[in-house]
Amino acid sequence: MDLILASQSITRRRILDAARIDARFMSPKIDEENITKSLIADQALPRDIADTLAEHKALKISRKNLDSLVIGCDQILVFEGEIFGKPASPEALKDMLSRLSGQTHRLVTANVIYKDGKPMWRHVAICHMSMRTITSTEIDAYIDAHWPDVKHSAGGYHFERTPDLFSSVRGNWFDIMGLSIDPILRFLNQHQAGNPFQIPRLAAVLGHPIAQSKSPLMHGHWLKKNQISGDYIAIDIPPMRFNTTVRMLFDVGFSGFNVTIPHKEQALAFADDMTSRARRIGAANTLIKRDSGKISADNTDGYGFMTNLASQNSAWNPSAGPSLVLGAGGAARAILVALLEAGVPKIYLCNRTRARAEDLAADISDCIEVIDWEDKQGVLPDVFTVVNATSLGMIGKPPLEIDLTNLNPDALVTDLIYAPLETQLLKDARTRGCEVVSGIGMLLHQGVPGFEAWFGHRPAVDEELEALVLT
Ligand code: NAP
Repeated sequence: MDLILASQSITRRRILDAARIDARFMSPKIDEENITKSLIADQALPRDIADTLAEHKALKISRKNLDSLVIGCDQILVFEGEIFGKPASPEALKDMLSRLSGQTHRLVTANVIYKDGKPMWRHVAICHMSMRTITSTEIDAYIDAHWPDVKHSAGGYHFERTPDLFSSVRGNWFDIMGLSIDPILRFLNQHQAGNPFQIPRLAAVLGHPIAQSKSPLMHGHWLKKNQISGDYIAIDIPPMRFNTTVRMLFDVGFSGFNVTIPHKEQALAFADDMTSRARRIGAANTLIKRDSGKISADNTDGYGFMTNLASQNSAWNPSAGPSLVLGAGGAARAILVALLEAGVPKIYLCNRTRARAEDLAADISDCIEVIDWEDKQGVLPDVFTVVNATSLGMIGKPPLEIDLTNLNPDALVTDLIYAPLETQLLKDARTRGCEVVSGIGMLLHQGVPGFEAWFGHRPAVDEELEALVLT
């Protein structure tokens, strides 16, 4: 089956890629503005306008590619009977957003399939988009931050980048993105003999900020490598908008999320139920929508940490003796729970801000003894595991100053930091003959349970993935 998408939209291409469909992409040149104007003059309905534009695009490509199936599509935004196009200037965008603020508009997405210059199939989807009330100051800040990105978009927004602009949505993610992949796949499956195409499943990492996250790279690699129909993206959500936005994203079709700073505690509170490790840690990094519709929270940081240690050093014995954990932030919390569950008999916890360590110890276990930041070297002869769970030693951060002269030579030393891959702490410990484990494996392993739950396949953590994430 030779398939052509008559569109230059990167988002639509991405949807076909996510569905594992081989297609060619062509950009039909049609006079959209004049066609739309004349249809409006004829009082055509919005759905007929979108459908006609989709037809024009598909027909133009189909005439020159007679044997191919050609998908044409178009999306228009309608508010109070008016079609909103691309904003001509930042001032025009301000006017548009001020009108859409606190109101519900419609996105009309038309899809047609042509063959031999004739229509074979058509589908129109309508999504109801309710924008929350946005203040004038917020609109100004939004325009400052997003104008170059959104100036080519009808209505002046990209739902996938700023879903927090919305309070609720009635519709499906792919329809909102401009390609109705579910009905398109149903049509294609009736017209092809091979394995049926599957509707892509969706997951994302949520944080604030989120641009630095390696998760899309990792999950994208697993999806591609295993030829799974699915997509995984990064979405920035401001903390105040977390619950509403996550609820909305589940409603439009997401199977689940990774959750990172600063949303981990909110994510736990958001869920209907949680694993015992998430409850004990008091934070979630994974949300999963179950078949029942209920949302489950998990925390896989400790799992990632332990699996990394086990895979890098099979001789490591947690019950050999006490551990030293440096740091008392979110990551340390997960590490403490994981070490205790693995059988570590005692943990010395040491943090610059002692009170934070004391709160953490009181929350988790009386097997944790808090020591002063200045005293960290004193316990080194007694410990069998040393974990750096502070940000010290990371590229761009101050070094971790610790003298390892008296470190137990049988101790395993691990750092959660993976940039640099081998921190000064690990270099120094290696010089002293200790086993060392870098933090990169923790990052890779913590993603496995979520991927398996969302996409139905347990992915492999291997050198190829590590190299990709480290580039
Ligand atoms: P966090 O909640 O912000 O905690 C940061 C920790 O670093 C706190 O204990 C903080 O001490 C300490 N710290 C920061 N600056 C310091 C300084 N100048 N001197 C002494 N201590 C300092 O962060 P987190 O989420 O726990 O993450 C901690 C580290 O683990 C980060 O480097 C992160 O990238 C890494 N991490 C790696 C993975 C992985 O998969 N490999 C996963 C999670 C986290 P105070 O309490 O005194 O501020």
